[in-house]
Amino acid sequence: MDFSELVRRAKAAKTGSGTLELDGKQYEYDILPASFEPSIPGFAGTVQGYVFISEEVPEHFRTAVISHEIRCRAKVGVPSHCVTAFGEELKFVTRDRREYLEMRLRSFEALLLARASSAKSYLDELTRTRDRIKQLLSEE
Ligand SMILES: [Zn+2]
Repeated sequence: MDFSELVRRAKAAKTGSGTLELDGKQYEYDILPASFEPSIPGFAGTVQGYVFISEEVPEHFRTAVISHEIRCRAKVGVPSHCVTAFGEELKFVTRDRREYLEMRLRSFEALLLARASSAKSYLDELTRTRDRIKQLLSEE
């Protein structure tokens, strides 16, 4: 499926939308049913400027998760860009931190399984972030 087809399908499936401000820029996003990407709980992403997130992500966690997608994608190629974006997203988590960390752990574990055949550099980024989440959970 090419990206424009994915965006077309997402827009047809959306159950809501929202906005957020990040680094002085305004973003709109669509909320998609969990069934859109059933293998990744709490999924979110950006494709050609189109931003989307799973309806499973509670509203007060959306900005944190989406900020990761935007910042992580913007820095692809920079070593540890994923775990760096993860550290930054936590600033948006003002309550229910353990619940947030557990949700993100489920997402990253699922991503590692679903994308197991991806490039090693990408998997290394995911692994580093997954391990950081585990570490933070053990310190909670
Ligand atoms: Zn990332």
